[in-house]
Amino acid sequence: MPGRHHLFVPGPTNLPDRVLRAMHRASEDHRAATFPDLYRSVLADLASWLDTGTTQVAIFPATGTGAWEVALINTVPRGALLYLPCAGQFADLWAELAGRLGYLVERDPECAWGATPDPARIAARLAADGAHTIAAVLIVHNETSTGVTADLPAVRAALDASGHPALLMADGVSSIGSLPYHHDAWRVDVGLTGSQKGLMLPAGLAIVALSTRALETSALLEGPRGYFDLRPMLATAATGYTPFTPSIPMLHGLAEALRMLHEEGKEAVWARHHRLASGVRAAVAAWGLTTCCRSTAHASDTVTTIMSPDGVDGRALIADAHASLDLALGAGLGPLAGRAFRIGHLGDLNEGMLLGALGLVELALDRAGVPITLGSGGAAALETWR
Ligand SMILES: *Cc1c(COP(=O)(O)O)cnc(C)c1O
Repeated sequence: MPGRHHLFVPGPTNLPDRVLRAMHRASEDHRAATFPDLYRSVLADLASWLDTGTTQVAIFPATGTGAWEVALINTVPRGALLYLPCAGQFADLWAELAGRLGYLVERDPECAWGATPDPARIAARLAADGAHTIAAVLIVHNETSTGVTADLPAVRAALDASGHPALLMADGVSSIGSLPYHHDAWRVDVGLTGSQKGLMLPAGLAIVALSTRALETSALLEGPRGYFDLRPMLATAATGYTPFTPSIPMLHGLAEALRMLHEEGKEAVWARHHRLASGVRAAVAAWGLTTCCRSTAHASDTVTTIMSPDGVDGRALIADAHASLDLALGAGLGPLAGRAFRIGHLGDLNEGMLLGALGLVELALDRAGVPITLGSGGAAALETWR
């Protein structure tokens, strides 16, 4: 089809032209004397974006899933108990990976899909763990399957209130780069992300930030670590290099993406995501549809999960939108397969692009036989933006 494809999945997100140009380059020698300039500046710009002055940041060639593994195997002894009180597909996948790595994972059965991890229940669970068997609390900061953002500072406060020494790990794959994230102020021990969401790059970089405490824990850890061992990664980073071949085009892309984010400014980036998300939520309300997220206070500013209208298979709606309208929507995941569709609204995005997507969603709903007033969602979004 002529014209631009409308990519509205919550990752991979649209690649800004500046990032594409930065990555379009010939191969370079990663042992050259010029490499440390690039690598050190990327690490520094990342730390600044994560709002940390004390943390070690590491970049592995991998996806967000690899970052989960880096986080776990470098800071928690195998066989230890992890507490993962979140609900959603990414929470499930993180728990499953942890299980394969030999960890015990406890979930919160009271946290249902569409709900947020409850700081009060977390505090109570930790207070009940007098023997301190829970080694880490794992939080999906923004659950991309349900469109729910967790209150990370409140979770930190819950850990503090219980006086429990568990490490706090945060999956920021669909939050970092788009939503407020303060690694030091929130005293996150291990924060992680991937490159293909808020950082506006292709998939391929796993980014992990460790607090001083997490690093101390890491140093005491025994047992084998392979590709994802942080020790050689951090030791060579200190000299400006990497222990194995880095993806240099991706590092140039990351440098450019961080330049773009810093030029716009953190507050402006977060405000833009909130403004765009408010427009989407207004559109969903105007269509008479509901979101998976149960409370407006925790509605994600990067992705909205919309429940399919009665009698409409979300999969068919998504397939038709792709085939007929050149619009890519996110699928319902896990138990939401066929029951929901998602609009990703993060990364290199503005009102005009989003308005196009909202209009195409209306056409797709209309084609699926949903009674809808064409233009109603777009108009509602415009009202929130006027
Ligand atoms: C996308 C995503 C991941 C990781 O997925 P990869 O495909 O391995 O990059 C992890 N957590 C969340 C919350 C995500 O949105």
